[in-house]
Amino acid sequence: MNEIKLFCPATIANLSCGFDVLGLCLESIGDEMIVRKIAEKGIRITKITGANLPLETHKNVAGVAAEALLNAVDTEFGFEIEIHKKIKAGSGIGSSSASAAGAVFGINELLGRPFTKHQLVDFAMKGEVIASGSEHADNVAPCLLGGFTLVRGYHPLDVIRIDSPEEIFAVALHPHIEVKTSDARAVLTPTVSLKDAITQWGNVGGLIAGLYTKDYDLIGRSLHDSIVEPLRRNLIPGFDATKFAAIQAGALGAGISGAGPSIFALCKGEAKAEKVAFAMSESYLNTGIVFDIHLSKINPDGVRIIE
Ligand code: ADP
Repeated sequence: MNEIKLFCPATIANLSCGFDVLGLCLESIGDEMIVRKIAEKGIRITKITGANLPLETHKNVAGVAAEALLNAVDTEFGFEIEIHKKIKAGSGIGSSSASAAGAVFGINELLGRPFTKHQLVDFAMKGEVIASGSEHADNVAPCLLGGFTLVRGYHPLDVIRIDSPEEIFAVALHPHIEVKTSDARAVLTPTVSLKDAITQWGNVGGLIAGLYTKDYDLIGRSLHDSIVEPLRRNLIPGFDATKFAAIQAGALGAGISGAGPSIFALCKGEAKAEKVAFAMSESYLNTGIVFDIHLSKINPDGVRIIE
């Protein structure tokens, strides 16, 4: 096998209470990538369609992540990468992570799987530095592992994968505006009150317990963010009304996807998710901002080979 084609799914990070630690993997939207073994050593990005992104290896998350992996093995050959973007960069649904995860997954497959998927998270994280300035795993972990993921800690990296309860569906509404990650980071405060911290870790524990026990009400009660969302909600026009519309339509919870501007909702059952997606769209039309909306079941596998 010298070439593979991959589906590299979009992801939702943070999930309200789990800022920088929780994420989930989507099924209905993702990029495609082709990874090819070549005689020449090193990594070359040869083609990008669907987005205006750099081909230079060191400027593209796929290239940086791929080189991190290649530095850990001894090979006499190299790899060529094609990226066919469907996830818009800066959307808040893991555009850069899909490329980083796809690159390391594809190379690992062509090398005969020297690394586990958990080990690949570490290499993919290195690529994320290009996109956001720091190594973080809250999108690359669900993209590689599928389901829900918890990044318990970074030193050493400790990622826990959690199966999704069958009936969970996600909705992600992507307003076509730019929220700079630097702006989304700038509004954060370096300290939090003990009261807010207690509320937050109560909710993180509740969400994890709800996922394990398939307790949809507990999942819904836990999908609150008392620390980051209050500071970021004003960066996204129409956020409050759209979140309210989602909850009114029966969503378990709703919040900001990643650093925004996408707004996500989790729902029990596909029919409810369709109702929620409709209500969110109706609400967002009032802003006059162009958007697209995705409804998806939770992807249990993460990145996968399609050819
Ligand atoms: P999202 O908000 O969808 O999670 P990110 O903010 O993680 O997206 O990443 C977007 C940034 O990463 C942009 O500045 C983009 O130029 C940069 N980038 C570099 N390589 C890629 C890539 N292969 N795919 C997407 N974005 C990339």
